Amino acid sequence: MNQQTLAIHAGYDKDSMATMAVPIYQTTAYEFRDTKHAGDLFALKELGNIYTRLMNPTTDVFEKRFASMEGGASAIGTASGMSAIFYAIANVAEAGDNIIVAKQVYGGTTTLTGHTIKRFGIETRYFDVSNPSQIEDLVDEKTKIILFESITNPSIDVADFDAIVAIADAHNILTCVDNTVGTPILCRPFDYGVDLSVHSTSKYTIGQGTALGGIVVERENLVDKIKGNPRYAHFNEPDESYHGLVYSDLPLPLFSLRIRLSLMRDLGATPAPFNSWLNIQGLETLPLRMAQHSSSALAIAEFLENHPKVSKVNYPGLKSNANYELGQKYFKGGHSGLLSFEVADKQTAQAIADSTDIFSLVVNIGDSKSIITHPASTTHQQLSAQELIDAGVPAGLVRLSIGLEYTQDLIDDLAKALG
Ligand code: PLP
Repeated sequence: MNQQTLAIHAGYDKDSMATMAVPIYQTTAYEFRDTKHAGDLFALKELGNIYTRLMNPTTDVFEKRFASMEGGASAIGTASGMSAIFYAIANVAEAGDNIIVAKQVYGGTTTLTGHTIKRFGIETRYFDVSNPSQIEDLVDEKTKIILFESITNPSIDVADFDAIVAIADAHNILTCVDNTVGTPILCRPFDYGVDLSVHSTSKYTIGQGTALGGIVVERENLVDKIKGNPRYAHFNEPDESYHGLVYSDLPLPLFSLRIRLSLMRDLGATPAPFNSWLNIQGLETLPLRMAQHSSSALAIAEFLENHPKVSKVNYPGLKSNANYELGQKYFKGGHSGLLSFEVADKQTAQAIADSTDIFSLVVNIGDSKSIITHPASTTHQQLSAQELIDAGVPAGLVRLSIGLEYTQDLIDDLAKALG
């Protein structure tokens, strides 16, 4: 079925009230039929609702719809994009392990991987996303996951999926892509052999900047890579915290299940049912919106490229861009609404960001409202000078998230701000 149809119907079998819209199941808990039923649910002999920290019927529709749109086997919704990324890492790595992460990632992912998980004894090794062969030298027997973004934020590089997956597969290591900017509409990581995707659904999925959310999606048959793989002992040995359950023996998608039964149980970064409902509303129009975000962004990138004050425009839809070929290969139907451009220095960048009328000065992306950001003084402020260079964030960089306003109005607003 086409994604546009899945976006409207996937994952929802109308309940006894036959509501056309997915209901918001605003409940903490669920009544069991009897103690045997309760015991069977806890023992996974029967699948069903126990407690909303673990699952919720509204969130379930969102998870199923999202997974089907991305071509994955299963998904688990989380309270935010950052908790999705943390869970993907924590589901495989523990003290003494290492993970390999692209240098060019969202600032929060840099601080999570470079600082917070370091305190848990997990080391992060970084590679340049435009040079994936660097991964080879970073791998050892303690490497648990390779994490990168499909389109990087804010440097706007496109990852070479084939090159990254080839190295990871040769070492039997899981790959995980943050596909927030790509979205399941424009970029389908599982078609290129990636094992897992994570998203901040706070962005294009929700689409109107109304709530935080995240999701972890796993590909079909991930068990084939995990079963018997010594890197992933947790999945192959009895889980003492779940009376000896061996995840790789279950006939269920195991990665999201282990997040649900273990990390979600113990840490509880669960999406609110209302936020899952907002995510469902967002998914319904995602295919239509991504087409508009992308075509508008391309027109604006072309305008900026011809502006005398702009020294460089980062947008893979531009023929002049170093990522153009990768963008053509891995993206279908557009290159999303995120672009960045460089001007002479920090002062010039700040003056532009302070002078727009339609573009709002905000640290968010993927909203219907257009957004302008100066990363070096906001999202990436906590990064050191070297980390800024590594993340591709020069002081004169301006990031734009192109919304759904009329394209020429946005161009006129930028023309005025550039002066
Ligand atoms: N990943 C990317 C690419 C992002 O841009 C962001 C936030 O801007 C995140 C993850 C974090 O998501 P959240 O703000 O939903 O925690």
